[in-house]
Parts: sequence; structure tokens; C-alpha cells
Amino acid sequence: MIPSENPSSLLQEIVRMFYLQRCGEALQPEYAGDFAHPACHTAPSRIYGTESRISVPGGWHDAGDYGRYTAPAAKAVSDLLLAYEAAPSLFPDETGIPESGNGIPDVLDEARWEIEWMLRMMRPDGAVYHKVTCAHFCGMIPPHLEQEETILSPVSTTATGSVCGALALASRIYQDYDSAFAQSCRKAARLAYSFLSSSPPLPFHNPPGIETGEYDDACDTDERFFAAASLFAATGESMFLADAKELLRKALPISFGWEDMAGYGYIACLRSPFAAQDGAFALALREALLAEADRLVVRSDGNSYGVSLNEPFPWGSNMYLLNHTILIGEANRLRPSERYANAVQRQLNYIFGNNPLSICYVTGFGNQSPQHPHHRPSAAAGKPMPGMLVGGPDSYLHDPRAKELLLGKPAMQCYLDDVESYSTNEVAIYWNSALVYAIALTRPDQQLSPAT
Ligand SMILES: [Zn+2]
Repeated sequence: MIPSENPSSLLQEIVRMFYLQRCGEALQPEYAGDFAHPACHTAPSRIYGTESRISVPGGWHDAGDYGRYTAPAAKAVSDLLLAYEAAPSLFPDETGIPESGNGIPDVLDEARWEIEWMLRMMRPDGAVYHKVTCAHFCGMIPPHLEQEETILSPVSTTATGSVCGALALASRIYQDYDSAFAQSCRKAARLAYSFLSSSPPLPFHNPPGIETGEYDDACDTDERFFAAASLFAATGESMFLADAKELLRKALPISFGWEDMAGYGYIACLRSPFAAQDGAFALALREALLAEADRLVVRSDGNSYGVSLNEPFPWGSNMYLLNHTILIGEANRLRPSERYANAVQRQLNYIFGNNPLSICYVTGFGNQSPQHPHHRPSAAAGKPMPGMLVGGPDSYLHDPRAKELLLGKPAMQCYLDDVESYSTNEVAIYWNSALVYAIALTRPDQQLSPAT
């Protein structure tokens, strides 16, 4: 069902959402249409607990709010880069963003917009600030009207590890387009890694007075693994390989979520030209990934909609489903099989409308799609921004509106097309990015070569 109306326009709109989420520059009507706005959030940001201010403009607004958070940013960037690497021919240089026509695929221009911001979020010692937001969420206003001061929350090792891994990945992907930029990414990744190596775990919790999204994560081992694995994949240096092997002894879940990033370490290593340096390690990664895919496919096969999620469905269920889809899609590149390919397709079909509500969860596509996403620019414009994936059913009914109207519904029907239902109808950069990656894996340009 992927080709709902026009498959390439669907993928292009999903990628263009990132442009429309850009912070810190004016979006011009010729590119952004109804979502044009003057530059937002350009004032220097205060470092929490001090009166010092530094300038960290750029990046993408994370979700329905205008915060910018480094851990989910690293997932989003990693998804886009790995999607591009798997299927470069799906990503043109003419999607209608300011950089279109510059000889570089737009998806890489867009990811670079975020990467350059992530570099600004790194302290001189390599640690990465967890987020930059106002103290509270604003009302349903366009971005340039949110004018309270922005505050840099403290650094965390979860954010530092994720950003380190994403930068190391970027250093490989951009090598052919801009080797100086690739080199600066690699240098920053090394700096972040040196901080990680000398730091105890610094998990993040909202400090007093900050009430925006927390993205808390008690365990930084998977982010440290992603950092080590991705630096090994980019450099071939044995120190990073040794660290990755040691960290993997802790039985990390092979997952692709902002809080569980180990899956990206697996893929970075398996795609690396240096994978053959330690054939046994590469083989172990490959076998573990295939075993996890087999487990998920059993679940998908046993569900009438092909969905691999267990009930109850979590907040952001569409992303968790797509993270599974990515894993199965990567398994299909390692060991092609119809069973994997069908599971990938069925899970995407669910997203695009083969579900009990017959709704396509991407705005602007399908016969029925969300009209009232929990997304400030859409609410302010009075129409949904196109190409956005909403979070989808949430069995736990995490918002009052959902509690009021969805109590007792089956898991797949715990969804509400209501601007107030932030737990089922919000959007996020790392949900769109997972969808981009999953789609790319349905049409990869080439299969992965065997790891050994
Ligand atoms: Zn902004």
C-alpha cells in the first residue's frame, strides 16, 4: 500500500517535513507555503543555573512543540543517513528546499542542518547539552512568537553518546560530498568520545523550573556502545572495536529508539568497510540481529494486521512499530527472504491505512488522515502541515482528552484526531525519520554484503 497516491511524492513530503520544522531561519513562502514564518529562536540561550549565554541557533523543532533535544535529534539524523545510504536513488536533489539543485541530495542537506546544530550543542570538552527549550511549553502559536528566553539544560551522557555515534556516522556518509565537513564531524565525535570515556554516567532529569520534554533515560550503555561502534565503523581503529565488544557483553536490546540506540551500532558496524577486521564479531552482530528479526516476524505473522507490537500499545506506538520495521528490513538486506519483506510491507500498510480505523497516519495522504495534529504550526495555520506521521494509538490514554473519549477501546483504536490528544496525535522528527528509513528499506539499491 505504500504507493498510496504517488510513492515518490509521499517520501518527498515526509522528508520535507524536516525543512518545515527548521528553527533559526526564516522559512520563505516559495518553499514553505502556509508554514512560512520569520526566523525564530535566534537569541542566545542561557546555560541553566548561570547567567552565561551562548548561541545555539538552527536544528529542527522536535515535535509539536518548539524545543530542540539532542538525543532524539541523533536518532532522527541516524535514520535519515542510514536511509540514504541504503537507497540513494530514492532521494533526489529537487524536493523544493532552498538547497535543492546544489548537487547534493536534499535529505543530506537537511540532515546537515541538524548536524551543524548538534555541533553547536557540544561543549568545548565534548559533552553535549541535553536540550535547549523555554522553561515551559507555549500555547498554540507559530514559532517566531515564542519569545521567552531559551535555556540550555545540563549535559547528559545519553545525549553525548547518541550525538557521538551520529557524528561518526555522518563522517562516513558525507565523505564523498564534503570531506572537510566529514572531517569536522569525525573530530567532534572523537572529542565527545573522550568526554564519555572519562565521565561517569550522567543521566538526565528535568532540573527545577524546566517543564519541557524530558527524554530521560537511566541507562547510557547503549549510547556508549553506539558511539564506540560508530567510531569503529568510521575509522577502523581497534580501540573503538575493543570498547564496542566490551559494552556489548551487557546484552543490550537491539533497538532503534532514542532511548535504546544499540541497533544503530549494529548497523554501523555491519555496513562498515572495516567489519571484516573482526569476522567473529561481525558474525555475532549479524546472527543476533537476524534472531531478533525472526522473533518480531513471528509476532507480525500472528497479527491480523501484521503488526509486531504487543498490546497494550505504548505512547508513540507508530514509531515503535517502525523501529521494528527497520530491524526486519535490515535483516532482509542481510539475508533476503519473502517473510521479512512481507512483514516490512504489512507494517507499513498498517501505517498507511490498513488498520481498524482505516486511517493513514501521515498527514495529507490516503483517503482519511489526521486533520488536527497536536502540532503548533498546524494549529496556528488552521491546517495540518503535510507529510507528518502522528504517534498513533496509545493504550495508556496519557492525555485527558484520550481518557475522556477512548476509555475501554481496543489497543488499535486508542487514537484520537484531536489537537488536544498529545499522546496519540502529536508528531515528532524521530517518528518521521523512522518512516523514511523503513520506506528506504523496502527498495534498497543493493543488499548488504555478507559480514564475513
Ligand atoms: Zn525555532
